[in-house]
Amino acid sequence: MKIDQLHQLFLQCEKVNTDTRKIEQNSMFFALKGSNFNGNVFANQALKNGAKYAIIDEEEYQTSNATILVEDVLLTLQQLATYHRDYLKIPILSLTGSNGKTTTKELINTVLSKKFKTVSTFGNLNNHIGVPLTLLSMNKETEIGIVEMGANHIKEIEFLCHIAKPDYGYITNFGKAHLEGFGSIEGVIKGKTELYDYLIKNDKHIFFNADDDIQVNKLSPYINKTGFSQLKSDYYTIKLIDAKPFVKIKIEDLIITSNLIGKYNFTNLCAAVLIGKYFNIDPKEIKEGIESYLPKNNRSQIINKGNNKIILDAYNANPTSMEAALTNFANLNDKNKMVILGDMFELGNESEKEHQIISQLVKNLGLETAYLVGENFHKTKSNSNFVKTFKSFEDFKSDFKSPSHTTILIKGSRGMALERILECI
Ligand code: ATP
Ligand code: MG
Repeated sequence: MKIDQLHQLFLQCEKVNTDTRKIEQNSMFFALKGSNFNGNVFANQALKNGAKYAIIDEEEYQTSNATILVEDVLLTLQQLATYHRDYLKIPILSLTGSNGKTTTKELINTVLSKKFKTVSTFGNLNNHIGVPLTLLSMNKETEIGIVEMGANHIKEIEFLCHIAKPDYGYITNFGKAHLEGFGSIEGVIKGKTELYDYLIKNDKHIFFNADDDIQVNKLSPYINKTGFSQLKSDYYTIKLIDAKPFVKIKIEDLIITSNLIGKYNFTNLCAAVLIGKYFNIDPKEIKEGIESYLPKNNRSQIINKGNNKIILDAYNANPTSMEAALTNFANLNDKNKMVILGDMFELGNESEKEHQIISQLVKNLGLETAYLVGENFHKTKSNSNFVKTFKSFEDFKSDFKSPSHTTILIKGSRGMALERILECI
């Protein structure tokens, strides 16, 4: 079936679906394959559960006119998404970077939705499946689409750009995340700037951090861009007032107090403000939007439990975000402090070195009590009586005694699920 014909059928449906356990009535089911499952097997079930059509790529599962056989389901999903994106003719804003994509996406969405009907990436669905699903969740009422793009290897962002065809783009930062796939920080820069390369090639608009030399150098000959800066007067000025603990910024004559902790959130906020300004949203509304945004999903949340204050940042971790969180934490004026850190995954050959650097940093920052949890941290040496390492979460949990009147930073990779310790505090 041709893509335009498939699109006609798609328009009769209300949703796209890839999981038979979550089928919604009148949806279009895509029988994707994974290493442990074959969606084709579930196509019939999807139809029984209420899907209007099921897109399959194995002939033996074709049962009725409602099962549509294609060459490759994933490719069809991606092509349909691009076709739909062209059909809607709405501006698409994409963002990528090593850290802060989801936070920035949420902030931009909060700001832009003050004036426009927006659709943005749901949660963290930012890959070769998530990006098409995001595009297909937009409809004729959508005025701006905001698409998060994640990557752990070269050419991935380029590929996602060809699916989403962004008109606007922003890169949050270049950090030491996914070194396993990118090889080095140079690899990270090359991989992430594929977004700017796409925008430049198509003469689209770029938002950028004019205080980031990598971005400034990359974009210096390019005209179609808007930047923010703390000090450089040729750009939109946004000042960091303080981050004790919530990040407070100043734009024009307004002070905005966010609900985000960690100085690293400053540039995330700047991007949302800059983009809001570009789309002519009144600064007062930008302020209102940002001040109403509360972080979710273990991402820099503040939780008061008993007489302890917990900074829960257990959503993910890599050397750059770990360092940022630790230095920020060390600068807080709170009296008693404890850190609980979990292993950082996907670091490849750099893993041992990077865990050792963090362990050393914990010692150098003079934090009173530190627990480093996981096989990688367990191998590090800190030579400090205040730093204790544990091979597994279970070992840590059985040793852990809840402190009192203490501010506790909890941070580790998703796989460590360090939020499990909350029940013991
Ligand atoms: P993912 O790769 O999982 O999609 P992400 O890029 O979407 O991650 P967020 O989920 O927004 O990132 O934030 C994850 C963590 O990264 C935060 O909790 C914080 O510790 C750190 N972080 C956020 N923004 C920045 C930034 N601009 N610079 C450095 N670290 C940051
Ligand atoms: Mg994300």
